[in-house]
Amino acid sequence: MTPRWLCRRMAIVGVGSILLDYHVHTTFSIDALSSVTECCVAATERGLAEICFTDHLDFSPADPGSGRLDPERYLEAVSRASGAHRLTVLLGAEVGVDRASHPACLAFMKKHPLPFDFLLGSVHVVEGHLIDLPFLATRTREAAYRAYFEELEAAVRVAASERLFDAVGHFDLIKRYAPTGFGPFRLDDCRDQAETILRLAADGGVGLEINTSGLRGPLGETLPALEILRRFRELGGEVLTIGSDSHRAKSVGAGVSEALDLAREAGFGAITSFRGRHPIWVSI
Ligand SMILES: [Zn+2]
Ligand SMILES: [Zn+2]
Repeated sequence: MTPRWLCRRMAIVGVGSILLDYHVHTTFSIDALSSVTECCVAATERGLAEICFTDHLDFSPADPGSGRLDPERYLEAVSRASGAHRLTVLLGAEVGVDRASHPACLAFMKKHPLPFDFLLGSVHVVEGHLIDLPFLATRTREAAYRAYFEELEAAVRVAASERLFDAVGHFDLIKRYAPTGFGPFRLDDCRDQAETILRLAADGGVGLEINTSGLRGPLGETLPALEILRRFRELGGEVLTIGSDSHRAKSVGAGVSEALDLAREAGFGAITSFRGRHPIWVSI
């Protein structure tokens, strides 16, 4: 059943640039190099219509960025940039949504009710460990995928019921860290779990992101790639964002055009922008 808040559907047709980047990190993240202003300048030069900052908001002790985001300073920097550039500047966050972090995350939202436009939910920590090469080296491909998707399924359930976040970041992240060891993720690698998550997301109004960072490295494909996007659409998924996952200004907007082509190929007639965590569909 379509959630009631999703029914406020509004399509914007033919309003100039449809290049949106909904996954941009700045120096408010532990692993990024460019300021809010530098990213806005880069986005304007590349003809983007909107940029949504999604600095890391992490609570897991396993994540080195945990507790780093200063909400007041972040809000101030993004607010200052909004209106100072020839594009729409939005406030978002990439929330680390491993199971152990759910209570702290929901408590943070209550304590700091920032006017977020968009929240991306990403699993970076599995079974209390950061997903990285040592994590992968101690698990089989099957065990690593199973554990990762268990975390993701739990997160999407809370997103659907309590709006923990609006869209899933880099659905098949594991393949980014082990492109040679595990190879690209395909539905058949973990079909039951992946299908369950895609169905939960589609039914619960939770979106997927086309994360273009994989196009900039040896992986050579987006996270997720066409097969998953097409299946999400077949299952009724409607909320789809596009993000570069840039950690420096020169990557802002990278791959966004290619992602639009991929979205069309997967059967989407629109991508989603957000205001105050409400979706707005932009025809593509
Ligand atoms: Zn991430
Ligand atoms: Zn990111």
